Amino acid sequence: MRYQPVIGLEIHCELLTDSKVFCGCHNSFGGAENTRVCPRCSGMPGTLPVVNQGAVRLAAKAGFATDCTVNNYSAFDRKNYFYPDLPKAYQITQFEYPICTNGHIKVCTGRDIRINRIHIEEDAGKLVHDDYEGISLADYNRCGVPLIEIVTEPDFREIEEVQDFVQKIALRLKYAGVCDARMEQGSLRVDVNISLMPYGSDVFGTRAELKNINSIKSIGRAIRYEINRQSEILDKGGKVVQETRRYNENHDDTKSMRSKEEAHDYRYFPEPDIPPVYISDEDMAAIKAEMPEMPHERFERYTAQMGLTADDANLIIGSKQFGDYFDEAVKVYPAYKQIASMMLVEINHHLNERSMTIEDVSFTPAELAALVKLADDSVVSKNAAKEILAIMFEEGGKPEEIAKTHGFIMSNDAAELDTVIDEILSANAASVEKYKAGNAKLFGFFMGQAMSKLGKGANPKLIKEALTKKLA
Ligand code: ADP
Ligand code: ZN
Ligand code: MG
Repeated sequence: MRYQPVIGLEIHCELLTDSKVFCGCHNSFGGAENTRVCPRCSGMPGTLPVVNQGAVRLAAKAGFATDCTVNNYSAFDRKNYFYPDLPKAYQITQFEYPICTNGHIKVCTGRDIRINRIHIEEDAGKLVHDDYEGISLADYNRCGVPLIEIVTEPDFREIEEVQDFVQKIALRLKYAGVCDARMEQGSLRVDVNISLMPYGSDVFGTRAELKNINSIKSIGRAIRYEINRQSEILDKGGKVVQETRRYNENHDDTKSMRSKEEAHDYRYFPEPDIPPVYISDEDMAAIKAEMPEMPHERFERYTAQMGLTADDANLIIGSKQFGDYFDEAVKVYPAYKQIASMMLVEINHHLNERSMTIEDVSFTPAELAALVKLADDSVVSKNAAKEILAIMFEEGGKPEEIAKTHGFIMSNDAAELDTVIDEILSANAASVEKYKAGNAKLFGFFMGQAMSKLGKGANPKLIKEALTKKLA
């Protein structure tokens, strides 16, 4: 690659409020066209917006989640433009005084990506184009859906950094209950601004803005396409034009939507119908107090304090609920590694098999902890613990009781063990001869015989010791 890519992001996130940002309409994904609209969000003249305080709180939480300054004072502005999906012909947004400023997130390469601002705004509706009929239909359900827009500085230099940042910020927003961050449903939408400059230069080139990217994988592909396209232009001595380009997943390319020349003059001015937003220090502290531990903090705790591997820690923090379950379990029985491994291997196996998530599990974290402890204390064997877990998934129940009623309690009866082993060895005299003559593999055969004779409560460790002694 001959040029250094320079990348900055604008990320729109739908807030998880019950109602829309300036009216009482239901805020949720889907619904039959134009059923979630009222005079206010469909832009009827004479209606007045009222700010949803829940949206303000979630926007503030997005700020706390990304180490921004959350401002006591913010205000709304009108961004004027005409498009059929915007019935008011202006969008209410925050321009001069955004709610959050100056955040940052450290990405995989160690680079700290600065967040310039986070502001609150309303979403527009959706146009459904029917090429066959040659018509476009407007669906206003999305009008007035509360959004935040997160704007980064052009600090990214590598594709992996962009992908890592989006994954990290999505996870943090999910932890904080700000946004469900479903890229495929459009509840988190990433616009990528990208320019190239010669290596060693610190003068940024002209950027293109890529829209319509709906997965982490597409982010990588769209950027790669754009790097090639701009490199070819620069190689030929041409100039990149500043424009907005649409990424097409099926063609894996980007096409121009509008250039800078066609760009709107938005004629921003302060929204006269909404008073500024004041968050008192007291309210600010209350909002902050509702913030859960963030995934990166959890990662630190799991690795530095609990000694989990980075891989295991990353897998556990990948879902807040999964991590919460783990935390509850280790509170009861702090065997971090054993509980982590039981959850990541055995529980995940059952969850996948049953298409469940950890929230659907009927037994409690304390019951899981009790199960792991039974195995650690050699009350049941490791294999028996797996079988007990399967029964817990099937029927629920307490591991101690399942162990008892299903005969999983390991037998430590030395006399019984002796008798069984003596029987096996005398019934297989020929094999004993071969073993003693050097066929070491036969040890496994004797183990297997003893295990099956002694049943679910067999104690592999004791059997091994007794066999070793008797075959010596
Ligand atoms: P505008 O005021 O035109 O919207 P901003 O300065 O707000 O421009 O930047 C919008 C987005 O573009 C931000 O994410 C920013 O990081 C990114 N950006 C700005 N300049 C460049 C550049 N030269 N190359 C790549 N990205 C850029
Ligand atoms: Zn409405
Ligand atoms: Mg801007």
